[in-house]
Amino acid sequence: MINHGLQTVTYIVSGVLFILSLGNLSQQETAKKGNLFGMCGMLLAILATILGESTEGHTLLLVIMVLASLIGLLVAKKVEMTAMPQLVAILHSFVGLAAVLVGFGSYLESQSSSLTGAVHTIHLIEVYLGVFIGALTFTGSIVAWGKLQGKIKSQPLVFRGRHALNIGLVLLSLLPLKGFISADASQGLEILLFMTTLSSILGVLLVMAIGGADMPVVVSMLNSYSGWAAAAAGFMLSNDLLIITGALVGSSGAILSYIMCKAMNRSFFSVIFGGIGQSVTSSKAQEIIGEVRSITIDETCELIKNAKRIVIVPGYGMATAKAQHAICDFVKKMKDQGREVTFAIHPVAGRLPGHMNVLLAEANISYDIVHEMDEVNPHLPETDLVLVIGANDIVNPSALEDPGSPIYGMPVIEVWKAKNVIVSKRSMAQGYAGIENPLFYKDNSRMLYGDAKKTVDALVATL
Ligand code: NDP
Repeated sequence: MINHGLQTVTYIVSGVLFILSLGNLSQQETAKKGNLFGMCGMLLAILATILGESTEGHTLLLVIMVLASLIGLLVAKKVEMTAMPQLVAILHSFVGLAAVLVGFGSYLESQSSSLTGAVHTIHLIEVYLGVFIGALTFTGSIVAWGKLQGKIKSQPLVFRGRHALNIGLVLLSLLPLKGFISADASQGLEILLFMTTLSSILGVLLVMAIGGADMPVVVSMLNSYSGWAAAAAGFMLSNDLLIITGALVGSSGAILSYIMCKAMNRSFFSVIFGGIGQSVTSSKAQEIIGEVRSITIDETCELIKNAKRIVIVPGYGMATAKAQHAICDFVKKMKDQGREVTFAIHPVAGRLPGHMNVLLAEANISYDIVHEMDEVNPHLPETDLVLVIGANDIVNPSALEDPGSPIYGMPVIEVWKAKNVIVSKRSMAQGYAGIENPLFYKDNSRMLYGDAKKTVDALVATL
């Protein structure tokens, strides 16, 4: 057992380790160290909490922890890299649910406690807001999981009057707060249940209204909400570390959402308020002119042999095909032949912020040839060949050329400006945003059909 003073000191050390973790995670070179700091911080936090003098029921706690650790281990071993975003979304929903349960538990407990006056009122406000954010995060994250898992259509659900409905739900949820503070236990519970229902519906509506290419922002925004929900739970439980950790997750998630909105030229407020400011447009996408032409492995090798500068644009299909190691072999071959090969990474490529960077790092592809979209775009006109590997939305010219397109305004990798473009994918199927891609019809584009890994393996073998 450790006393309160030692527990507080350990919590401070954990908090510092979490800050160091976040700082290191922001760069690829130091990300592993960042993970290590985070794990050490969490281990210390768990130990300090279990051994704290106010913690009871150690046997039950131990049984639950062993069970939960086993489940976590199994899930982590089983989950494919392509399914990580869904896993993250569902984990956010657990944080939301935990905040709701802590809120209800804390409310019931406070009714029989000795809290009075301003302290009691503040506690009730914490409970109310904690449950509000928690319920919204819970249902919003489940919808996000459904959209990422393909169980719910990725297209945004937009209907006239939805903003009025959302604002109405926020007001209806928050207005009973005054009555909640002065209510007796059973009335208070009814109000809490009523508000939980409304904020759960709000969570569903907010995330259903965002779709297609804007989903990455929703995922990071729910990450932020889950942090605030955890911070609220920290206030309810008077746990300083939970408050610090929740605030760190909440603010870093909000900063990530902002960065992604900027990268995608989207309004931050529009996305966090369920597409507010976006019109319910019925304008049709432009008709695509041109014809699709395919290319064989041998013909592709001929083009590669004549290219000095090659840019590779990886997308979600590279992740599903697990083609990163084959691509690494391809890069080595190109270097041996004296060709310049670089990568162009779109901020929302794949299904997770940094998804492509993680996969390329896993295949030991050197960081210095992996560039951001903005660094590569100006040099594409001087590029001989672009190889698009399993990418679709992030190289869609409609984003710049077609005001009727749902992704209009989002910056993309302007691959069609290069001399030749080869797109490796299995079919003419659409990407995550569910829209056609005029790139495939352009004169300088060729489709190299097939699974990305098999295709790149075949290229390496033939070259
Ligand atoms: P897309 O989802 O637009 O396109 C991926 C393409 O890969 C598909 O058209 C598919 O075509 C192809 N593909 C799938 N499997 C294979 C395979 N085995 N071999 C070869 N090709 C394959 O991916 P992008 O990376 O271009 O864009 C990401 C999209 O995901 C954006 O719309 C983004 O907003 C969204 N998103 C991103 C998140 C993030 O945080 N990064 C989170 C949530 C959504 P085919 O079936 O014909 O092979």
